[in-house]
Amino acid sequence: MNSQHEQFDTVRLNAIPITEVARHLGETVRKAGVNHFTLCPWHDDHHPSLSLVEGTGKNYCHCFSCGKGGDVIAYAMQRGQWTFQEACLWLSAEFGIPTTTAGWNNLPQPKPHPVTKPVEPVYTYIPMAMVDELVSTENSLCRCLMRMFHPAAVEGAAEEYRLGSYTLNGQDDYTVFPCIDEQGRVRNLKVQHYDSDPYSARFAHSDKSAYWLGRIWADNGRLPKDAVFPQACLFGEHLLARYPDNYVALVESPKNAIFGTLAYPQLLWLATGNKGMLKREALLPLRGRDVIVIPDCDAVEEWTRIVEGLPDLANFTVSDFCRRQAPEGQPKFDIADYLQQQLWAQPF
Ligand SMILES: [Zn+2]
Repeated sequence: MNSQHEQFDTVRLNAIPITEVARHLGETVRKAGVNHFTLCPWHDDHHPSLSLVEGTGKNYCHCFSCGKGGDVIAYAMQRGQWTFQEACLWLSAEFGIPTTTAGWNNLPQPKPHPVTKPVEPVYTYIPMAMVDELVSTENSLCRCLMRMFHPAAVEGAAEEYRLGSYTLNGQDDYTVFPCIDEQGRVRNLKVQHYDSDPYSARFAHSDKSAYWLGRIWADNGRLPKDAVFPQACLFGEHLLARYPDNYVALVESPKNAIFGTLAYPQLLWLATGNKGMLKREALLPLRGRDVIVIPDCDAVEEWTRIVEGLPDLANFTVSDFCRRQAPEGQPKFDIADYLQQQLWAQPF
């Protein structure tokens, strides 16, 4: 009988350190505790769950996710997508173990690790300490607000929403709006400048493009160069847990949320930041809440249509307040415009 086993020294093949076999097959091997881990070839693995166990007579693999595993030859067969014969041939050649078989000319090559789904990026969250060091009211928006509201109230709002000040393009009074999610993780920080000249028609309106600090910090080396930032969340989302019983007021721009909280502090003001956030996934943190949605003048129909599709998510009410208050020909009229109009007549 000339069985496959007689052509190969399977005892020696199964004694090749299994971490070395994985490396030679092109896998990344990481040490965690006493064991090593790599991607499991038996299932669609994106986070290494195959443990490679070595030492004192042990040399095998076991997957903590799908439960499969085996000895060196079994691992090589599965990883290389080989027959028993092919796996033994490759192992013998790769690690210099003599065989009696002829076939050295057709050495099998391992196939790339099978990946069926795109690997989800590992997101970078920004350390809270980097937000804390920016918190201040020395920015152009707070300067505008202090002409309309009590400075102590503005200080309080900046503290709660973690508003900050940042220097960009030679100007030290850009306003920082951190995007902190319900788990308290900082997803990114939006940076914007406002016209703080009280005699300007654009007073308290943004007068320059917006920036994202995560990207700026990745470019200047304060965060990893290859950082991938998660999707933005609702502005003020981190306050939901702090005020579990308050009625929520939802507006589009963070500036409107700040004006809102100063004028009507009994409501918890949140902002979507942009229209792309008007979807179930982004509004999930509002689950079970009473929410009054206050769209800008021209967005009442769109917001109404969207929240009507989410009756199970929260108790939404859409207010057409801005449209009712808007002067003729001002389609972008928002809650901040309204409050400015009311308060500017008698500045604080
Ligand atoms: Zn597995």
